[in-house]
Parts: sequence; C-alpha cells; structure tokens
Amino acid sequence: MSKDAKEYKWGIVCRRCGCRHHRTLYTRPRAGGKIARRRICRECGHEFTTYEVLPGSVKG
Ligand SMILES: [Zn+2]
Repeated sequence: MSKDAKEYKWGIVCRRCGCRHHRTLYTRPRAGGKIARRRICRECGHEFTTYEVLPGSVKG
C-alpha cells in the first residue's frame, strides 16, 4: 500500500513520456543479490536503469 507500490502498479514506466513500452538492453548482477537492468523506451528512446531484487537472494 506504499506510494512506490502504487507507482509500479503497471510495472516500470518511462519517466520521460510515461509509456510502458520498453525493452531491456542488458541485465547485470549487483551486490546484495540485486540486479540492474538497462532499459530503453520504445516511444522516445529514453534510456534508464532499474534496480530489482532477485527472489530468494535477499540476505539479512
Ligand atoms: Zn519514453
């Protein structure tokens, strides 16, 4: 019920144009069981990075 949960109700949205059509350029592992995804918007070409936590890999 947090604000973040509401923001991501439809998944990841381009911050520039607000569309949800994008594709992943690459995925890289990060420290702490997280992964970074580099994405590019299909509408405006805006590139952005999202950070996600892999299920089952969260420690302490
Ligand atoms: Zn866009």
